[in-house]
Amino acid sequence: MSDLADLYQDVILEHSRHPRNFGKPESAGRQARGNNPLCGDRVAVFLTLDGDRISDVHFEAKGCAISVASASMMTEMVRGKTVDEAKVLFDRFQALVTGKATSGWNGLEELEALSGVKEFPTRIKCATLPWHTLIAAMAGSQDEVKTE
Ligand code: ZN
Repeated sequence: MSDLADLYQDVILEHSRHPRNFGKPESAGRQARGNNPLCGDRVAVFLTLDGDRISDVHFEAKGCAISVASASMMTEMVRGKTVDEAKVLFDRFQALVTGKATSGWNGLEELEALSGVKEFPTRIKCATLPWHTLIAAMAGSQDEVKTE
């Protein structure tokens, strides 16, 4: 996979056009913002924790298809997971998109469609921005997450 067109698989385009869990909820226990100035992506993640479990998660995003699709898939993946489980998913996802994943891994489901970004280093930040923002929200950080 080295053609830019291959990067935009159908599942990515579909999520970017119809993002899941999009919009600011009336109440959210925690929120964080992220900014990827290289591409112009901006993400906000809204999180409700029940103990250490993510009971609800929404996002708002303005940016490229990769960042919006990644955020949309992320919210579907982490809802119902514990904070620690979400961190493990992020570690796996980061390994996937930076080309460090070993074969035989599973559990990332649709997120595996984003593995093509490893051929395009500038797009890796688009894919990981929502996750860095999620991590900040889970940690209760008030600072904006910046990729640069
Ligand atoms: Zn982007």
